[in-house]
Amino acid sequence: PSGFDVEAVRRDFPQLHREVNGRPLVWLDNGATTLKPRQVAEAVAEHYSTGTSNVHRGAHSLARQATQVYEEGREEAAKLLGTQDTDEIVFVRGTTEAVNLVAQTWGRANLGVGDEILVSAAEHHSNLVPWQQIAAERRARVRPIPLLPDGQLDQDAYQDLLGSRTRLVALTHASNVLGTVPPVAEMTALAHRYGARVLVDGAQAVSHFPVDVTALDADFYAFSGHKVFGPTGIGVLYGKRELLEAMPPWQGGGNMIDSVSFEETTYAPIPHRLEAGTGHIAGVAGLRAALRYLAGLDRQAATAYEEQLTAYAMGALATVPGLYLIGSAPGRIGALTFVLAGTDPIALAGALDRQGIAVRAGHHCAQPALASFGLQSAARASLALYNTAQEVDTLVAALQDIQEQAQ
Ligand code: PMP
Repeated sequence: PSGFDVEAVRRDFPQLHREVNGRPLVWLDNGATTLKPRQVAEAVAEHYSTGTSNVHRGAHSLARQATQVYEEGREEAAKLLGTQDTDEIVFVRGTTEAVNLVAQTWGRANLGVGDEILVSAAEHHSNLVPWQQIAAERRARVRPIPLLPDGQLDQDAYQDLLGSRTRLVALTHASNVLGTVPPVAEMTALAHRYGARVLVDGAQAVSHFPVDVTALDADFYAFSGHKVFGPTGIGVLYGKRELLEAMPPWQGGGNMIDSVSFEETTYAPIPHRLEAGTGHIAGVAGLRAALRYLAGLDRQAATAYEEQLTAYAMGALATVPGLYLIGSAPGRIGALTFVLAGTDPIALAGALDRQGIAVRAGHHCAQPALASFGLQSAARASLALYNTAQEVDTLVAALQDIQEQAQ
């Protein structure tokens, strides 16, 4: 494929063509979750209507077919992230579970008294709270990497924080509040000089630009299916083979063992060792469809389209009197978080909803990031590759109306 045809893409997403409150839906809540192309709903329906079986067990045709779909889902995830080794792909519920898995296994085995975990101030709570929990247990310390006024991470502060006690750096690949895309490869290389590991939260990255964990040299990388046009309840933890192999199992049960007796239980090789119990098979079928859909697009062109749309939206929002947009760093994704003078963000989102425009309002599960800007709550319009300049215009016109009425 070459070039990006937004209208053709929009035809694949049925929800874009519905109405809400009597108006055509303008879906600008992609940071919370993305809409699904019909291929994803079809894949999930197919699993439940005619393809139901468990995987990796049962010597029958449907078990083999379900297993094939499941393992092809793993291959698609490996391709998306740029690793050749499908054993490095662990299925989890989502980004949150991926981080908890690493904290509870790698963290418990590798963190000790006085060790330090550096967590950027831009992180979603899911890449902060699990570190606070394991740090409390291991008597380790979580230290914030502060933000600059434009929403970028303070690289001087980061260099000062790194030291012989640093064990892990928790870093977002794209902030869900500020849109910031930190220099992950450079920051990872620096962390590695101190022998620290790096976990990258790719929840907001994978749908917006191509990712290559090998080029980043990330030790762990996490994403959620539902933010990359796939189902909820399924996500991926990537980990370097040697790290995953050295990690103790987390949950125990079926699927993850080699042999079990009351005397001794031994564990299966990765990735199954970290996937106890029956997985979300229908979810993987949907994720496979979503990642194939994405792989079928010209990713470079799609990213360029989104970059243009983001720049357009930032310019258009700047024309609204009294609107303050948080984070102006270049090279950002289209997570556009703002406050409108004199209007409560929740009331603002309600007023937009009455016009069919879906945005999120609140703390966005990133209270430290908002606090860095002196805020507790804000509204966020977050763009995806199927959004258009007309939709941005609809938002801006509605904001202008709301702003005039507030006067
Ligand atoms: N990290 C970021 C940057 C996110 O935006 C989100 C979801 N808002 C998460 C992590 C958590 O993802 P999930 O709830 O799917 O586990």
